[in-house]
Amino acid sequence: MAKVIAEMLVESATMELPDVKTLKLQWPEGYDPGDFKTGQFITVYWPHKAKYKRAYSLSSCALDRGFYEVTVKRDGKMGTSLVDWADTGDKLVVIPPTGRFLPVFDPPGKHLICVAGGSGVTPFRGFAREATRRNFDTRITILYTVRTTKDVIFEKEFCDLAQQNPRIQFHVTCTRLTPEDPWTGRRGRMTPEWVKSFVDNPAQTVFYACGTNEMVAAVEHLVTHDLGLPKEQMKTEKWG
Ligand SMILES: Cc1cc2nc3c(=O)[nH]c(=O)nc-3n(C[C@H](O)[C@H](O)[C@H](O)COP(=O)(O)OP(=O)(O)OC[C@H]3O[C@@H](n4cnc5c(N)ncnc54)[C@H](O)[C@@H]3O)c2cc1C
Repeated sequence: MAKVIAEMLVESATMELPDVKTLKLQWPEGYDPGDFKTGQFITVYWPHKAKYKRAYSLSSCALDRGFYEVTVKRDGKMGTSLVDWADTGDKLVVIPPTGRFLPVFDPPGKHLICVAGGSGVTPFRGFAREATRRNFDTRITILYTVRTTKDVIFEKEFCDLAQQNPRIQFHVTCTRLTPEDPWTGRRGRMTPEWVKSFVDNPAQTVFYACGTNEMVAAVEHLVTHDLGLPKEQMKTEKWG
């Protein structure tokens, strides 16, 4: 079967946080996604609103077959409709995966430093899953900025992956905790010094930034200006 736009059943709808939902979209019988890659995005719309289409990064990976997972934040029209309304048994129309925000697993030996803010962490779950399942030697360091500890998406899964795979590191920094909060991890915004502390071999490092245009631009500046790395060593996914 050719690569097609297909209506998919919502197999499950899981609240990750009060405003973030993961939708598992079941491939219909005979569906052939072709050669899609971890890190790509699908485009989704409601069958009754075909004109309103929005992109969502896969939070699953290319080894996950029979379904796609996307993780959506309640934000804007589509984000709000999906988080508030999409439920098990509903149908959504899916345009197959596309995009170039791909983990560099080949050649081996790379260090992927993945910088995310808020829901921008979703594609990195796919990166970490695939690298772990395929036992790649690629190192993946996720640097994740959230407002408070209540805003961390996939905390358990990232910690579990980091336990299974010593080449994965998951670091969170909280920007808006009260001084009384018992969190013992890092506080404050991402700084060049903090990011720099994870770079041990600049030539083998590839940076990734995913999220709002503003956040991605800030990381781009940090990597190319403050760290002095060439733009070719950075991949970005701007969500608008
Ligand atoms: C490649 C790609 C991948 C993406 N992956 C994901 C993903 O994995 N998860 C995810 O949650 N999102 C993702 N997005 C964003 C997603 O496509 C939607 O843009 C998002 O869900 C918001 O829905 P919307 O575009 O209908 O919002 P719109 O209603 O068009 O609003 C767009 C933005 O403007 C803001 N806005 C809207 N109305 C107002 C207003 N009156 N005042 C102030 N601000 C307002 C909204 O908060 C929103 O941020 C991705 C985008 C791209 C391009």
